[in-house]
Amino acid sequence: MFGGLSLSPGGAGLPAELAHIGRDPFDPEYELASAVRTIRAKRSGIKRVLLDQRLVSGIGNIYADEALWRARLHYGRPANTLSAKQARELLTAAHDVMVEALGQGGTSFDSLYVSVNGSSGYFERSLAVYGREGQPCLRCGRPIVREAFMNRSSFRCPTCQRRPRLSAR
Ligand SMILES: [Zn+2]
Repeated sequence: MFGGLSLSPGGAGLPAELAHIGRDPFDPEYELASAVRTIRAKRSGIKRVLLDQRLVSGIGNIYADEALWRARLHYGRPANTLSAKQARELLTAAHDVMVEALGQGGTSFDSLYVSVNGSSGYFERSLAVYGREGQPCLRCGRPIVREAFMNRSSFRCPTCQRRPRLSAR
């Protein structure tokens, strides 16, 4: 659904089509401190920043929601209002979620997301907020809400992840 294939003629260098993509948290050259500085320099809402593959790559809609819940942050919080500690906790949470998801074969939210041999990942059973609208928050019991976000959905706990007072846009 979100994939594509392109051919880049030439040698073994980094193809121009990929050069703008940021390092992902599994890259040996990824540095947490540098990623913290990068995201804290942005004025956009923090989830929009997490999804921006030019800054840090590999974090999609589901893992962003899970990381934000773990870090107790609202998706619309302007990234430049996060403390360095909050940004560190958020990026660490995103990394942890991805490690856990990989360990369980990924997240097969529907039949499009299966492994190359057709088997499902099991991480959807471990999701704390994504797809859990109306179900109790695993931390405080308040029902999880679903909100429209960039033509998709955001799931959050209204108590653990309060809306910021500043306008998020
Ligand atoms: Zn909660």
